[in-house]
Amino acid sequence: MNTLGRLLTDLGERSTYDAVSQCSRCGYCEQSCPTYKATGREDRSPRGRNQLVRLMLEGKLKDPSAAREALATCLLCGGCQSACYAHVPTADLVLEGRRRLSPRPPLAARWLTALVGTRPRVFAFLLHLAYAAKRAGFSRAAAPLLRFVGLSGLAEADAHAREAPKRFLFEELRGRAWSASPAWAYFAPCGPNYVYPRVGLATVKALEKRRGPGKFLDNGCCGLLAYNYGDPAEAREMARRAVAQAEKGGDVPIVADCSSCAAFLKSYPQLFLAEPDWRRRAERFAARVRDAAEVFDAAGARVAGPVTCQNSCRARHGQNLPAPKALLESAGEFRPMAEADDCCGGAGAFSLLHPELSEDILKRKVANIKATGAKTVVTSSTSCLLQLDAGLSKYYPGCTVLHVSEAAALDGDRQ
Ligand code: SF4
Ligand code: SF4
Repeated sequence: MNTLGRLLTDLGERSTYDAVSQCSRCGYCEQSCPTYKATGREDRSPRGRNQLVRLMLEGKLKDPSAAREALATCLLCGGCQSACYAHVPTADLVLEGRRRLSPRPPLAARWLTALVGTRPRVFAFLLHLAYAAKRAGFSRAAAPLLRFVGLSGLAEADAHAREAPKRFLFEELRGRAWSASPAWAYFAPCGPNYVYPRVGLATVKALEKRRGPGKFLDNGCCGLLAYNYGDPAEAREMARRAVAQAEKGGDVPIVADCSSCAAFLKSYPQLFLAEPDWRRRAERFAARVRDAAEVFDAAGARVAGPVTCQNSCRARHGQNLPAPKALLESAGEFRPMAEADDCCGGAGAFSLLHPELSEDILKRKVANIKATGAKTVVTSSTSCLLQLDAGLSKYYPGCTVLHVSEAAALDGDRQ
């Protein structure tokens, strides 16, 4: 069985069944759930999803295909968990439910995980080709055809990734001279590595400016992709590699600049509940991890216009981090946003797999941004950057999105 079976919850280690049984069906979480607010459907709510998982574990599930869809449309944002007084870990339970319903990960996820995890050079080569095609305008031309033949996910991927970098982050960082006695270590998440190298470069620049010399871990994927798309065994192997590699470089803080990745790195101990030695190593590793969103307390310069913040789900709900208020206030006139803790609908591949629901959630998010009058939105996850960039360009042009590291690394000449 490709499931964890036991979870590390806010209340301690629990079996999946005990964790889901904590749900008293009070419904207090419903208004924290973007998919429930977008659809009004009980089976698109945390309470509904928890009941489906419980029925599944009790062998009473009547309609597996409806349950599959209900669980597939969860953003895994964790908004419900922050609202739940009983600390029910709904996102982890949804993943356990998905794995039970589909014990074998989907083929596309297996391919992608294998490429990113074990053949990063091949993956980088293929992505370079795709970006070259995009720069030449071929992918945009193919979008209507992709939609027509039902591959709207690929068309959405192209529409969301508006940048096509010529060099990946690891290609920029490998050749640099790094310190032999670093004050920090940089873990490059896949987002900054392959989609937004400028974010990773900003993180390194801001860290050097504030904390002195550091080093690049030259790491592989953290395993989140494998974990979320049905393969915790593969995620565990990736975690072992990341932990072993980080152990070689002393005990300095490990900074990651995508909140989804940072939250997953901090959750490594959950992968090793049945392996005490590895659990201890994972706990030591997790204690060193810092999200860029918790590292920088001031912007390098003021940004354009009033500024607001989209709290990345995996910073706010996955790591319980507050919004970086000091950084935001130093960046410009700070205008708090309604529902700033709600997911924007990006959520990894969610916007590609469920484009219509994702778009409904995005429209609500952009309306909230617009209501602040902000000209800059600061956030800390690659998914948020992609999703908000796409949404702002469509519904609120004139407002731009920045990663916290970019705000921290701004030079005084950018006003
Ligand atoms: S997940 Fe928590 S808040 Fe939501 S219905 Fe269950 S107990 Fe209530
Ligand atoms: S994780 Fe997010 S989308 Fe899923 S049930 Fe909870 S609040 Fe809703």
